[in-house]
Amino acid sequence: MSAPVKKNDRLTVYIEDLTHDGNGVAKVDGYPLFIQGALPNETAEVHVVKTLKNYGFAKVIEILKPSPDRVDAPCEYFKQCGGCQLQHLSYEGQLKWKENMVRNVMQRIGKIDAPVLPVKGIEEPWHYRNKAQIPFSSNEAGQAIAGFYKTKSHSIVDMERCLIQTGEADAILAGLKKELAAIGIQPYNELSHEGMLRHVVIRKARATGEVMVVLVTKKKKFPQKEAAVTTIQKLVPNVTSVMQNINSDKTNVIFGDETVNLWGQDVIIDTIGDVRFEISARSFYQVNPEQTEVLYKQALDYADLQGDERVIDAYCGIGTISLFLAQQAKAVMGVEIVPQAIEDAKRNAALNGFTNTYFEAGPAEEVIPRWYKEGKEADVLVVDPPRKGCDEALLKTILEQRPKRVVYVSCNPATLARDLRILEDGGYQTQEIQPVDMFPHSTHVECVSQLILKEEAGT
Ligand code: SAH
Repeated sequence: MSAPVKKNDRLTVYIEDLTHDGNGVAKVDGYPLFIQGALPNETAEVHVVKTLKNYGFAKVIEILKPSPDRVDAPCEYFKQCGGCQLQHLSYEGQLKWKENMVRNVMQRIGKIDAPVLPVKGIEEPWHYRNKAQIPFSSNEAGQAIAGFYKTKSHSIVDMERCLIQTGEADAILAGLKKELAAIGIQPYNELSHEGMLRHVVIRKARATGEVMVVLVTKKKKFPQKEAAVTTIQKLVPNVTSVMQNINSDKTNVIFGDETVNLWGQDVIIDTIGDVRFEISARSFYQVNPEQTEVLYKQALDYADLQGDERVIDAYCGIGTISLFLAQQAKAVMGVEIVPQAIEDAKRNAALNGFTNTYFEAGPAEEVIPRWYKEGKEADVLVVDPPRKGCDEALLKTILEQRPKRVVYVSCNPATLARDLRILEDGGYQTQEIQPVDMFPHSTHVECVSQLILKEEAGT
C-alpha cells in the first residue's frame, strides 16, 4: 500500500488514540499518522512532516476541537523536555486513559476477561519523584547548564526547576549551577571528555526527610570538595549525606564503580508502610514510595496470607515486596538476578528484624525450579518482572508446581496480558487487575493482578 498522504500535505483529522510516546494517532484511510501534542477525541488541522510505507508523522497546525480533558501543561519546559509525555492531559484524563489502555491491551493481546479496576491515582501528582539524576554540562559561552534530556536525545534542556522532582532537587538544579564557577568546578563536556562534574544525583527519603546528594565526577582528585559540600549545605539545609562517585569513562552511563563519602552518612533511611529501607548512592529504590505502598498493599491483599503460607517473591530487587509479605507469611524466599540488590535485601531484612526471609541471587527461571526440587515449595508465588515479562521457563514451573495463588505485579500491560493468557490456559483464573499510577504525567502504568487455581475456585 502506498501512503494516502504525502509530505507537506495539510489536512483535518480526528485523533483516535495515544501512543506510548504520548503522540496522538489519527487514521487516514487506515494509514496511521502520529501527531505530537494531539489528544484522543480531538479534531486538528495537521501538517504532514514525514511518510513511511506503513505510517507517517504530522504536526499540529491548530486544534479545531480540543478534548474536554486538555489542559495547559504547567511546566514551561514540557514541549522540549523528554521527561513527561502527558502534562497537556488533565490528571483525571490521564487516569481514565491508562485504565482504558490496560483494558484494551488485556482484551487485544491476552483475551483476558477479568475486570480491570479504575486506576489508583496519587492525591498530589507533582513533586512525587524521590530521585533526580541531573546531567551537568556547559553551553557554547562556557557557562554551566543543567536539566533533563530532550526526547530521544542527549542534549540537555537547561532548566531552573522540575515539577515532578523535590524542592531539594530544584535547589541543586538552579543553585549549584550558579555557584559552580565561583567554587572553581568545571562541568563535564561529553564531546570533549573534559571538565569535572558529570551528574548530580539527589535522593530524598520521603518518610524521614533525609537527603543524599551524590556528585559524579570525572576524577577522584577533587580539590574543591569542601567548597562543594559547604555550597550544598547552604542550598539544601536538610542534607544528611554528600557522596562522590567517580566515573572516568567515555560513557553515558551515570555511575562509575567507586563511591566515597564527602560528608555525613553513607546512606539515607526511608520507610514504605512499616518497613525500613537503607538507601545508598547506587542502590535501586522505587522512585515514588507513596504509590509503591499502594501497589504493595494491593499485592499483599491479593496474596491473601493467613500466616502459615510459604511465599516465593520472584524478581525481588532489594526485597521491597518480600519484606511486605514477610510481615504476614510464615516464610518468604526472594530471588533476583543482581547480586548487589540481594545484598541490600538481606541487609534490609536484618534492619527490620525479620528472621523468616531467605534471599538468593540468580535467574528466577533457574533458581525457582531448583528450590522446588530441594523441597522448598510455595503456597503463594509473587512475580514482579522487568518490562519483557516472565521468562517462559518460570511460567512453565508455575504451571507444573501449581501454587494456590499467583500475584503478578507488572510494569508493562502488554507482557502481562501475554503471560496471563499462558497462565489461564494452564489452569489459573485471573480474578481482577488493579492498575496503580506510579508515574503521573508519563504514559507508564503499573498493574497488579491475582490469579487462583481454577480447581481451588471450584470452576
Ligand atoms: N520487586 C522489586 C523489583 C522489580 S524490578 C521491587 O518492587 O522493587 C524487576 C527486577 O527483576 C529487577 O530488579 C531486575 O534486576 C530483576 N531481574 C531481571 N531479570 C531477572 C531474572 N531472569 N531473574 C531474576 N531477576 C531478574
